[in-house]
Amino acid sequence: MKQKEMKYVLVTGGVVSGLGKGVTASSIGVLLQACGLRVTSIKIDPYLNKDAGTMSPFEHGEVFVLDDGGEVDLDLGNYERFLDVKLTRDNNITTGKIYQSVIDKERKGDYLGKTVQVVPHITDAIQDWIERVAAIPVDGKEGPPDVCVIELGGTIGDIESMPFIEALGQFSYRVGAGNFCLIHVSLVPVLNAVGEQKTKPTQHSVRGLRSLGLTPNILACRSTTELDTNVKEKLSRFCHVPEENIVTLYDVSNIWHIPLLLRDQKAHEAILKVLDLDLPCITSKPVLGEWTARAQLCDKLNEPIRVAMVGKYTGLSDSYLSVLKALLHASVACGRKLVINWVSASDLEDATAIENPDVHRVAWDSLKSADGVLVPGGFGDRGVEGKIIAAKYARENNVPYLGICLGMQTAVIEYARSVLGLEFANSTEFDQNTKNPCVIFMPEGSKTHMGGTMRLGSRRTYFQVANSKASQLYGNHRFIDERHRHRYEVNPDMVSQLEQAGLSFTGKDESGQRMQIIEIGNHPYFIGVQFHPEFKSRPGKPSALFLGLIAAASGQLDVLLKKSVAMKSNGFTNVMPAGSPHRHGNGVNNIHSNGNRNGLHV
Ligand code: GLN
Repeated sequence: MKQKEMKYVLVTGGVVSGLGKGVTASSIGVLLQACGLRVTSIKIDPYLNKDAGTMSPFEHGEVFVLDDGGEVDLDLGNYERFLDVKLTRDNNITTGKIYQSVIDKERKGDYLGKTVQVVPHITDAIQDWIERVAAIPVDGKEGPPDVCVIELGGTIGDIESMPFIEALGQFSYRVGAGNFCLIHVSLVPVLNAVGEQKTKPTQHSVRGLRSLGLTPNILACRSTTELDTNVKEKLSRFCHVPEENIVTLYDVSNIWHIPLLLRDQKAHEAILKVLDLDLPCITSKPVLGEWTARAQLCDKLNEPIRVAMVGKYTGLSDSYLSVLKALLHASVACGRKLVINWVSASDLEDATAIENPDVHRVAWDSLKSADGVLVPGGFGDRGVEGKIIAAKYARENNVPYLGICLGMQTAVIEYARSVLGLEFANSTEFDQNTKNPCVIFMPEGSKTHMGGTMRLGSRRTYFQVANSKASQLYGNHRFIDERHRHRYEVNPDMVSQLEQAGLSFTGKDESGQRMQIIEIGNHPYFIGVQFHPEFKSRPGKPSALFLGLIAAASGQLDVLLKKSVAMKSNGFTNVMPAGSPHRHGNGVNNIHSNGNRNGLHV
């Protein structure tokens, strides 16, 4: 019997960057999934870094971490969240990875006697990589997926992406017609003066694409409003794309509308046709009930919940994308409208009060007006004192607090300073010779090689006590698996001292030596975690500790905790939050279940 052929959907971008190509590509994946197809994805980043791990979140947005420890582009987070899949590090292709693999082979002698060149060696390596990775199952089921959505980073015409474009042109020929669909995401600007939708930039970028050997099957045009019929006609004529294959991605109130927007414009029908997919298992009426309910619910929420994000890169929200998404998932589940109070950590420090009193006051007002405080992960010493101050404020004023990675470490430092009276308590990351090193470098780390040398990826945490808040929120399981990315850890030699002073280490690794969760018993909600729960939060399946934070901040924690216990005894495993050990495949929580009066939708 002939093996099932893999279908590929390539998503490229034209005109300008920042069109939301990643969200569009993920939404296309959702739509195809809703038609009954198993979908995987590959993101191509044409930069020379081997992975995103060594790049600044301020320049490039957050570094997303996968189960296998891959440090990847944030778009892989979009795919994991939208498609509810688990990707591997190889699902993110970079120029660095491709060149390194070719050079390694050259050194081994695999090309002996040959001149190694961009064409065919680099272009072949790209195609082989795509074919290999597309076949990896990512949805927990066996066997290769049906469709692989490939997103090419950057904009058509970039020098960096040329080898990839050439490779993808060859690839479309290699896999053959009916197996390859190219969707070009472009911009149709509306000029204020005339109010007219302008097609020229799209025409030019499609011409550029064609001159590089790629022909678009579908145009996805970003614009403020729906495209006029005559604009579609014009685009069709000049770009040689049938009118029914031109969709508008106009501005919507929240990103969960995008799969619905694509469905309403029958994008799935166009894609299925190009991909020659009319199998009986595939429906042309995508099932998007949960997406519709969530998108509508999100629009309706109006009671605000304010969370202070005390971070370093407060100027670019992409730097903390997964944390924001996790907060959003939790807020929607709690029936609240998320409002972020951005607080630049260093603005809370005393030094700022002297240099710039207005900035200092605004930062403090912002912190104090929040219902909860979140200190996200981070590296380097800028703003660390401010983060310590934020933890102190939350602890002393009974404000719900969630500290992630560095946010847990700074909470430990704060506790050691304020409660144990260890004036010099610090992390050796910030003060190498501190007299009170309560956070120290991990023995297995490297100080000379920064790429991929942290404690990375999925690791196990064992709960130490049965009924701590964290353990209850995770459903009172013995252990959980969450993703990590750190070089420093709580000094095991100081644990008993801290514990005696009231700081509970309620989660540890399998050796019992590595501290994973801290909690303060007599506080409404004070939790710090060495891992990053945000990476496994999903729409409809909020991460347990984010849910706890928002529930505590909105006065719903008791109800939530009672519920999680009740649900467990009733065997409702489908309501397990992300990160719990027994999550069910693609089942999204029924966010309207139980008609809950308290606003809790999980
Ligand atoms: N800089 C700290 C460490 O390396 C925290 C890392 C983080 O927050 N991801 O341990």
